[in-house]
Amino acid sequence: MEKIVFLDRDGTINEEVNYLHRTEDLKFLPGVPEALRLLKEAGFKLVVVTNQAGVARGYYTCVDVEHLHAYMNEELKKYGAEIDAFYYCPHHPVHGIGIYKKVCQCRKPGTGMFLQAEERFRIDKAHSYMIGDKLLDVEAGVNYGVPGILVGTGYGADINREIKEKGEKPLYDFYAETLMDAARYIRAREGKTASAV
Ligand SMILES: [Mg+2]
Ligand SMILES: [Zn+2]
Repeated sequence: MEKIVFLDRDGTINEEVNYLHRTEDLKFLPGVPEALRLLKEAGFKLVVVTNQAGVARGYYTCVDVEHLHAYMNEELKKYGAEIDAFYYCPHHPVHGIGIYKKVCQCRKPGTGMFLQAEERFRIDKAHSYMIGDKLLDVEAGVNYGVPGILVGTGYGADINREIKEKGEKPLYDFYAETLMDAARYIRAREGKTASAV
């Protein structure tokens, strides 16, 4: 069985740029390659699950997305922080054009990309996590059956503040200011479960 950390991409790994698709616009958030490496060293596989409505809207193509992911991994490889698999949803239920206008299972908070990952990995859900900067990321993880972590980069800090102000109980297990904080949380939590067994 494999422990997986599922990761949103934009606002979680790289800076949120509207409809990122050019390699020259890719900027890793501070400490992200190091955080990814920490998780790999702890025995996790890294799986990106990203909604790419820009494909649906015709702003860029699947080829662009795959090219960007290949480039991202070339860069991450330098840090020993390669992503093990990328999954993306190119659809949008309303704004999609042609074949991409679709109510699909893969668009988060749906679980289709997690199920695609199951074709490749024997996922140990009890030791897997989902990290993202939006509630739909957390929801997707919870819908799939793994704990969600909201990260404060991208939209996450604002979302966390709103939830706190309203006094709502968050859907996520943990709020991490950065991906490094999320990685440390996961390592600490796994350490506890390991010693409890
Ligand atoms: Mg995001
Ligand atoms: Zn989809």
